[in-house]
Amino acid sequence: MVVTPICNFCAKTGVLCKKCKQKLRKNKITQLDVDVSKAFAKAEQRFPKQLQSVILDRSHNLNNSIVLLAQNGKAILDNPAIKEFIESEIRNPIEIIERKADTRRTFTDFFSPLDIVEIDQIFVPPEGDVELKITLRGNLEAHRFPLDQIRQIAELISKNPVRIEIKNLME
Ligand SMILES: [Zn+2]
Repeated sequence: MVVTPICNFCAKTGVLCKKCKQKLRKNKITQLDVDVSKAFAKAEQRFPKQLQSVILDRSHNLNNSIVLLAQNGKAILDNPAIKEFIESEIRNPIEIIERKADTRRTFTDFFSPLDIVEIDQIFVPPEGDVELKITLRGNLEAHRFPLDQIRQIAELISKNPVRIEIKNLME
């Protein structure tokens, strides 16, 4: 069964239980997560087999599209009918970012064909919040997203503020 940021029952009925309402109020999830979860619950009724192993982690509004961070998201990419169905439900084009077992592997995959040179953790005063400074090497134009969107998606993946630096291949 497809797993979404809200519980299955809430995704199906569209009415949020106490627990999910609280998650929303505490900003652990967003209204967009709720809307996307409902779209997935509907899609699952039509495509139960294809979506059974999909785990939807988070969603993010990126200019004119909605970025979805998902495990086994390939199931959606491989099937244009599912992608179209979800896009028509949320009335926006979607981009799927594949979530791997850990953040490092998710980054490696997502940044490709750019290489990760290093990832530094910067502690920002006064609270000591962690910001990531990610240094990448390669041809930025070869990536499917522009730099600012790469940064936004990196923030979606890590849940931290992200700064990105690009080194050219020659450096
Ligand atoms: Zn719920």
